[in-house]
Amino acid sequence: MILSTRTRTLWSVISVLPVLAFILWDGPTWLTLVLMIIAPLLMAIPHEGLHVLGHRLYGVRARLGQIKSVFGWPTLAVQALEPQSLRSYRLALLLPALVLGLVPLVLGVSLGSRPVLLIGWVGVSMASSDLAVWFHLRHWPGQTLVRDHPGEVGVIRLDA
Ligand SMILES: [Zn+2]
Repeated sequence: MILSTRTRTLWSVISVLPVLAFILWDGPTWLTLVLMIIAPLLMAIPHEGLHVLGHRLYGVRARLGQIKSVFGWPTLAVQALEPQSLRSYRLALLLPALVLGLVPLVLGVSLGSRPVLLIGWVGVSMASSDLAVWFHLRHWPGQTLVRDHPGEVGVIRLDA
């Protein structure tokens, strides 16, 4: 299962909508503008690091590499180097969205902090391909043996 460019584009557009909605709701401010530029830069390495951590928690080796983004330019991506169960793959896939997306969203709402809320939405939008892969694999059983696709966003099923 690999994601087509069309699917990846669709998910990245959908995932950026909350950020745009936030700006409409909160009004464009300098803080919002600065956060929208700086947050993705500061969160890129932690995002990929959390993928590596997710793989390592199950003893799967992974390395940081590059793939082509939906817009054609190179983007950072972690690739697992060994086959693994879909259960462990899902953890590695969703860890950045949970830690850098969901956690700031919950904190932003509970603290009433708009900048933290925005950081959460940026974190979610950075995980759009991860969420798309998770969504497309949601019906596969957890014990399914998968391997990261070497050049595309998606997995190769090894036990089918
Ligand atoms: Zn990711």
